[in-house]
Amino acid sequence: MDVEFPILGGEPLPVEFANTLYGIGEQTDYLQSAAWIDQWFTQILGAAPHPAMGPHADEVRLLRDTVHALLSAATQGRTPEPEAVRRLNSYTAAAPTYPSLTWPSGGPAAQWQDTVEGPAAVLGRIAACCIELLTGPHSGDLRRCQGPGCSMFFVKAHPRRRWCHPSCGHRDRQSRYYRRHLTRGATR
Ligand SMILES: [Zn+2]
Repeated sequence: MDVEFPILGGEPLPVEFANTLYGIGEQTDYLQSAAWIDQWFTQILGAAPHPAMGPHADEVRLLRDTVHALLSAATQGRTPEPEAVRRLNSYTAAAPTYPSLTWPSGGPAAQWQDTVEGPAAVLGRIAACCIELLTGPHSGDLRRCQGPGCSMFFVKAHPRRRWCHPSCGHRDRQSRYYRRHLTRGATR
């Protein structure tokens, strides 16, 4: 059976990855089994060839938890646990990349080359992408959805965006409407 994953589409890979741990309080882990992990990677990477990630569920979930902790700290403006930083770095260190020069007739260009293959390379790239996200020009635009019960991260692409998806904005307005009316009823 196909799982309906919380994929926003168009968000940086580490953001989509962190969003697989869904909800506030009672959380749903969308990477809870090897089968779901394989489905998620297939949906997110599309036709791009990639190794089966399901057999490496523990490493996948550990990196996901780490990215989630780091994005949470960033959106809350606090310093994360040093252990989370150390763990993220262990994933990039396990899959170092190096620039290689190509010089076709159009002029010189750099291409990043992997030094390892397989799952370590996939996870290393997500970890490197997370570092770029946290330190890059859009680091200040990282947000958490304000929809009721929603916890999704997103990168605020335009100034008025407050929700991960329009449906969360709809639910938020609705719950505020009910709250207003209930409060009014209570004080009557
Ligand atoms: Zn939301």
